Amino acid sequence: MLFIRTTFFILLAAHWHLGLSCPQSDHSHPTREKAAEIARNNNARRDVRNVPAPKKIAIENVRVFDGEKLLPLRTVFINGDTIVPYVKGADVVDGNGGTLLPGLIDAHTHPSTVDHLETLSSFGVTTTIVASCQPEAICESIQNHTGLTDVRFSGLSANAPNSTHAKLLGLLPNETLTSPSQAPQFVDDQLAKGATFIKIVAEQPDSTTLDQDIMNALVDAAHAKGVRVACHAAGYAAADRALTARVDQLHHVPQDTPTDEPLIARILAQKAVSIPTLSIFRQFVMGGAAPPSAYSAANASAHELYKASVPILAGTDSNSNPTLGLPFGKALHDELELLVGAGMSTVDVLRSATVLAARHNLLFDRGVVAPGMRADLVLISGDPIANISATRDIQRVWIAGIEYEEVAAA
Ligand SMILES: [Zn+2]
Repeated sequence: MLFIRTTFFILLAAHWHLGLSCPQSDHSHPTREKAAEIARNNNARRDVRNVPAPKKIAIENVRVFDGEKLLPLRTVFINGDTIVPYVKGADVVDGNGGTLLPGLIDAHTHPSTVDHLETLSSFGVTTTIVASCQPEAICESIQNHTGLTDVRFSGLSANAPNSTHAKLLGLLPNETLTSPSQAPQFVDDQLAKGATFIKIVAEQPDSTTLDQDIMNALVDAAHAKGVRVACHAAGYAAADRALTARVDQLHHVPQDTPTDEPLIARILAQKAVSIPTLSIFRQFVMGGAAPPSAYSAANASAHELYKASVPILAGTDSNSNPTLGLPFGKALHDELELLVGAGMSTVDVLRSATVLAARHNLLFDRGVVAPGMRADLVLISGDPIANISATRDIQRVWIAGIEYEEVAAA
């Protein structure tokens, strides 16, 4: 059992390492070279796709999810990259009585190529939060691809030099932290590289993990700069340490002992949010990398957090690891179903991937269908409040007003 649990934590970390197929090998050097090559390819594809210019569009005959309910049939107007109350001379799109959702937001992914962005786009994921940027060359190269999923990233995740994650990620000593005094510089370095939030890895405590003092100092330094802190915490003791550090977002949920009343009381008091990532737990159980109890604990945590009114964001941990990867885009639709399975209402599940995901990632220009907002929209044919699986039936996707035409059937 202990072996299985340890393996699970290693694998949970391992998928972050681009191209990592064997957690035992040292991939740091080849991975960095490979990353540079991937980044060059990504940059070479910037602006060479045949991207239509933003237009004036009138999407007629659609119900609109307003964050609480479906509004009666109406017309939604887009002018360029923005939703507007009305615009003259618009091209008309017939929504055929379908439902218009705000573009979906996946709050935890690891895309590394433009192809990954294309896939996310095709499934209606118009914004994604890239939870740690390792190897670093990648993140900038997947930003600002017009007409594709909008990317926000964290920079390097904060780790101790000899921790499990540092080894698996192939971090160099100067990319890790050994003292609280290094925290302000670490935060400044990530922000200078374009990070919009800071990511800390809280492992189950042992002699190799990041000290509590360092975690506390990182959160203080990030908050002093007005940025939020996301924390990997896949075990109960790790979540406890994350909360002691006063992080803003708890990514994953304990897969050993479910989140209980004492932890929840602290989460509520600190106004933290949870990104349970049930899909990756399910993936590990299905792949034999974790015992079934890992999923039941994760599911129980999500259930208790929701019951206590902790804000839940939909995140998948989708990644391209060859053995335990999770498909981009499709995984978000799976996650929505798994969150319903954990007891959430369909309305709250839709909010977890739209308005709440935007608000808690400080993306105030999106997450709702309203004039003035970014024209990130997903047209589906059914009623996702009646049945969450309706989100899979995607008809059309717009990203900042540009239609992504190769939509997928999720
Ligand atoms: Zn992850």
